[in-house]
Amino acid sequence: MVQAIVGANWGDEGKGKITDMLAEKADIIIRFQGGANAGHTIVNDYGKFALHTLPSGVFYDHTTSIIGNGVALNIPVLFKELNSIIEKGVPKPKLLVSDRAQMVMPYHVLFDAYEEERLAGKSFGSTKSGIAPFYSDKYAKIGFQVSELFDEASLKEKIERVIATKNVLLEHLYHKPLLDADELFDTLMEYRTMVEPYVCDVSAYLYDAIKEGKNILLEGQLGSLKDPDHGIYPMVTSSSTLAAYGAIGAGLPPYEIKDIVTVVKAYSSAVGAGAFVSEIFGDEADELRKRGGDGGEYGATTGRPRRMGWFDCVATRYGCRIQGTTQVAFTVLDVLGYLDEIPVCVGYEIDGEVVKDFPVTSKLEKAKPVLKTMPGWKTDIRGITEYEQLPENCRKYIEFIEGEIGFPITMVSNGPKRSDIIYRKKD
Ligand code: GDP
Repeated sequence: MVQAIVGANWGDEGKGKITDMLAEKADIIIRFQGGANAGHTIVNDYGKFALHTLPSGVFYDHTTSIIGNGVALNIPVLFKELNSIIEKGVPKPKLLVSDRAQMVMPYHVLFDAYEEERLAGKSFGSTKSGIAPFYSDKYAKIGFQVSELFDEASLKEKIERVIATKNVLLEHLYHKPLLDADELFDTLMEYRTMVEPYVCDVSAYLYDAIKEGKNILLEGQLGSLKDPDHGIYPMVTSSSTLAAYGAIGAGLPPYEIKDIVTVVKAYSSAVGAGAFVSEIFGDEADELRKRGGDGGEYGATTGRPRRMGWFDCVATRYGCRIQGTTQVAFTVLDVLGYLDEIPVCVGYEIDGEVVKDFPVTSKLEKAKPVLKTMPGWKTDIRGITEYEQLPENCRKYIEFIEGEIGFPITMVSNGPKRSDIIYRKKD
């Protein structure tokens, strides 16, 4: 069975924890999009980890971790991460890298930084991991697949051709040092040495795995609202964050994705620029940021403070719908235990009219939140394992949100650890 774990919002919903937890019963976990620009934070018996490239299932010795063709693969970052988890005592993971995955080149990272510098105040808030230049090149058909590392003559010729245009930009637009073909070739040969033992025809591997009845998890990065088509364009990421793209970014038939677990956080947070209707500021935001997640809402990759907001029913209903949600994992609920009252955004007021459907970006920028206030529960809910044991106001909060978003909340996460999970009994 193939199951996707994806985010409904701006990312950082706690997908890593849910993936790590569901991976216990999985055989294969695949990253199908994105790169090392965002991270998942995972807390388990081996310690606390911030993963950027490896799938969140790498901590079990029965799982195979796969970097799918849809990923922006930064080879040195991948191997640094692999070594760092092994150093912390995690058994060496079984890793496969798609021969069709394309590589983040050293110049993608440079171009990302140069472009943000050029845009100055109008920048997109990129993490400067090279992701946008990488995907631009992929679709401009000047990217490099892992498989190309094994044909040296063609590789040399292509490097010359590709860097000729890059060097024009470097010289005349960015006024930065030029790229050297021999140096780049040598770097790519180092990448080849690192990746060679792991290279695999992933779609063929998955075809067999599905036939054998293996359990496969597709692990998404970021969330619906960062999708380049359905998100808050242009303040989005450069690859699709939707479960549907899992079929393409892993290389398996779309009809095999039977279960779409959409991860939804009990309040909102976002990184980077872009409209964020339920955003809060000042002390109110600082308090939630400090208490949020596990040790505060700060970027797993960049360490930068996340923007904070109340739960947004409009954005989340849309985010769940566009994912094709079959069930919702509702996370980080324990954090809200300090509040007397909890505001929830239930509508957007745009030009004097209240809407419940998530609008296109131009309208979104004009939206003001319509808030409803729910009573808080003022207790620590960590350690609770049965839904009925949650305080009544806490259950009311969950059930109100479930009604608003229109998808079943089947899991409630009340702490960062694998075991901090409440499975809700279905009637
Ligand atoms: P991801 O990118 O969707 O995997 O999310 P992040 O890893 O960026 O953010 C989730 C943060 O919340 C991490 O620090 C997790 O350890 C933490 N976390 C996940 N679930 C829970 C939860 O239920 N309660 C608390 N307090 N923290 C959680």
